[in-house]
Amino acid sequence: MRFRPVKTLPATRYRIAPLDPHAHLFEVRCTVADPAGDGQRFRLPSWIPGSYLVREFARHFVTVRAESGGVAIPVQKEAKDLWRAAPCSDSLTIVAHVYAFDLSVRAAYLDATRGYFNGPAVFLCPEGRAEAPCEVEIAPPEGAVGGAWRVATTLPSAGAPRWGFGRYRAENYDELIDHPVEMADFHHASFEAGGAVHDVAITGHIDADLARMAGDLTRICQWHIDFFGGAPGSRPPFDRYLFQIAAVGDGYGGLEHRSSTSLVCKRDELPARGEARITDDYRRFLGLASHEYFHSWNVKRIKPSAFAPYDLARENYTRQLWAFEGITSYYDDLALVRSGVIEPQGYLELVGQTLTSVLRDPGRQVQSLADASFDAWIKYYRRDENTPNAGVSYYLKGSLVALALDLVLRQRGGSLDAVMRTLWQRFGRTGIGVPEDGIEKIASELGGEVIAPFFARCIRGTEDPPLADLLGAFGVTLHRRAAESGTDRGGKPGGKANDGDPPRCWLGATVTGGASPALQHVFSRGPAEGAGLAGGDVIVAIDGLRASVDAIEKLLRRRRAGEVLNVHAFRRDELIVTELTLAEAPQDVCWLTPAATVDEATRARRAAWLGRDF
Ligand SMILES: [Zn+2]
Repeated sequence: MRFRPVKTLPATRYRIAPLDPHAHLFEVRCTVADPAGDGQRFRLPSWIPGSYLVREFARHFVTVRAESGGVAIPVQKEAKDLWRAAPCSDSLTIVAHVYAFDLSVRAAYLDATRGYFNGPAVFLCPEGRAEAPCEVEIAPPEGAVGGAWRVATTLPSAGAPRWGFGRYRAENYDELIDHPVEMADFHHASFEAGGAVHDVAITGHIDADLARMAGDLTRICQWHIDFFGGAPGSRPPFDRYLFQIAAVGDGYGGLEHRSSTSLVCKRDELPARGEARITDDYRRFLGLASHEYFHSWNVKRIKPSAFAPYDLARENYTRQLWAFEGITSYYDDLALVRSGVIEPQGYLELVGQTLTSVLRDPGRQVQSLADASFDAWIKYYRRDENTPNAGVSYYLKGSLVALALDLVLRQRGGSLDAVMRTLWQRFGRTGIGVPEDGIEKIASELGGEVIAPFFARCIRGTEDPPLADLLGAFGVTLHRRAAESGTDRGGKPGGKANDGDPPRCWLGATVTGGASPALQHVFSRGPAEGAGLAGGDVIVAIDGLRASVDAIEKLLRRRRAGEVLNVHAFRRDELIVTELTLAEAPQDVCWLTPAATVDEATRARRAAWLGRDF
């Protein structure tokens, strides 16, 4: 055995303070004890792990200056995300004022009600010092704002009291930027799972049953811990965990970190006091929390080799996001039923909704999951009117392919559970990145020769996974019907009043707005496209009558396929007059039911899959 001497780098010291909450400005300082002799460079990440878009966080750096020993040091900008301070002999501090008014979970926010930041949006990395230990002082705002604020983060304390402002630390820059920080007068709940304390900090105006939420999250988190640990009573790969939640009027999103997650949800999605059932809203919140928690293993520790390590200056290409997001999307809801928080019928409803959503997009026959993963950087986060025709969601179709893969493996004595546990043992625990063919290889070890053609068709190709047959073999029947309204999300049998009613017609477009309806997406080879209409067109009249979303809905119910509509629409400020021939609605709405009769073997397979006998 040979020892390599390791040069100990002096700590990089940071200080972040809300400078002016009303102007949404943080002041962020970064001090290097021994700056590079030819001028120290500082770089800001261009993207945040977990959200695969180059976001150019540097665009919110309003001013940047430097000082050394009380003397100003000139700073030159060398690239969009790169600053270089002139050479100096003493310790060097770079001071940035950062505009923070992004309510998402990906950047930073500051006003008189709360402060929040992700490291990539605020902390410069001194070049050549990514491995240096970091110390960070999180300071309270000065003045009247923030008197009752506390700090919620999983950054390890270096003296700061629990929930307090003060000093924190990180082993290196990678860790520094993986613990978002919330400062606010937040609501708090706490529970234990797998021997680790789990805290929930909720910012926003809420009136919710936090004890009930903590109880449900306990069961869900324990399920995930036991899933990867392989046995009840396992321990998670962190000492403590934090759910950092911003509850708002309307919003949805989450971002995973190594021992915490930031979520944005609607306040109505939190459980109401005195309410015992799981509403659709609350189920959505639990699914989001479950999703981000599963990521603690799948993508934060089991990660594609392209992310080990991350290159934060540019796109990091991988064809595996369908696995890291799609498999996570499969297990997020599955964990709710397997942990007993929701009933099997509720889970089948969610799968039916996902199927409906995927079947509606012609783009699933154009773009493969592997290609959707690779092009996430230019496509997934840049949806436009043509996205449903040209692309597929690696989350939604990825979760269906994960379901199909699980059922295929179960028919051969394996399971996706076993694949995930093997991934955890071989890659997650070791910190080795998963090669591009790593998941297929492990699945093939368990499933044999059927796996390679499955990957070729459903992941590298654009075929739909054969879910009707697979679900049938597990005692679940897949039904299909036409949409009953423009807001029909599927998952349920539908409630058409009279079986004798004619089926609703199809426009071949989604319509938004109320009194002034606009086409949002116009589907390939559908009636609207055939009439020359496009996404963004505003429909003003149909057959001589003023159009509205309600009027279009009524018309689609009353008219028959094959009938021709006279349509007046505006594209920009130009009037279009055209004829649109209504079509029969596609059978793209899905719902699932337990099969009417199942034999014992099928019932046992279903119970092993869902963790529930019914
Ligand atoms: Zn995710």
